[in-house]
Amino acid sequence: MTYDRPNRRLAIPGQLATIRFMSPHRAAEGVDILVIEDDPTIGRNLHAGLLASGYHAHWSRTGESGLTQARLAAPDVVLLDLGLPDTDGVEVARALRGEHPNLLIIILTARADDIDIVVGLDAGADDYLVKPVTLTVLLARLRAQLRRQPAVPAGSDPIRLGDLVLDVAARRCLLAGREVDLRPKEFDLLTALARRPDTAVTREDLMAEVWDENWFGSTKTLDVTMAALRRRLADESAGSTPLETPTISTLRGHGYRLETPPDGKSTMLS
Ligand code: CA
Repeated sequence: MTYDRPNRRLAIPGQLATIRFMSPHRAAEGVDILVIEDDPTIGRNLHAGLLASGYHAHWSRTGESGLTQARLAAPDVVLLDLGLPDTDGVEVARALRGEHPNLLIIILTARADDIDIVVGLDAGADDYLVKPVTLTVLLARLRAQLRRQPAVPAGSDPIRLGDLVLDVAARRCLLAGREVDLRPKEFDLLTALARRPDTAVTREDLMAEVWDENWFGSTKTLDVTMAALRRRLADESAGSTPLETPTISTLRGHGYRLETPPDGKSTMLS
């Protein structure tokens, strides 16, 4: 079922088989989802589709009512449209992230431009989907995101690379003892590289590890997140005291490699 073609049937045999295999109802148990979407057809289909898949779902039609609902109900996930009648969805994402640090925010947007994706992710969204999107794909991405939430087993030791300390269990990134405020996907991407310093990691492996093991779409989201991660690390490193910071090299046609700082002691403590 696509949102722009609401009358199309959801159930085709292949999709049903996949859904049964992924056991969506178990994944959906106790998960509260807030849909912030003004389009009546998309909103209604999304709300009904989530309920039918076993999620608790609430539908708000404006940015303001969505923010109010999020304060009242503390949802686990927000599916957020960017083109809202009262507030820009990017502002809603920023406000949600500020008030609910652990909330999973997935942007649903008709805007496919790089800049919109960058702004959305920078505002605190964890992922985005470009409309029109099928309910099947949306549910798959949702499950992938939910599986990622407790991605790292508690108790693993921090990774130290020069002045950079990545405490994966606590989800903290410290540079010379100072907290670096990374968005969830930036943190995951840095972790994926820092787990194997000075080793080439392919784009495919990063996509699979950070986003979804069954990723088959565009890898633009990787470029966008990588650019944001580099920018944040560069901003934090730009100070009066020179820091021993790892750098991320681009390997054309292959992927990336995290280089340990020249004199930095590279220790994998885990
Ligand atoms: Ca809209």
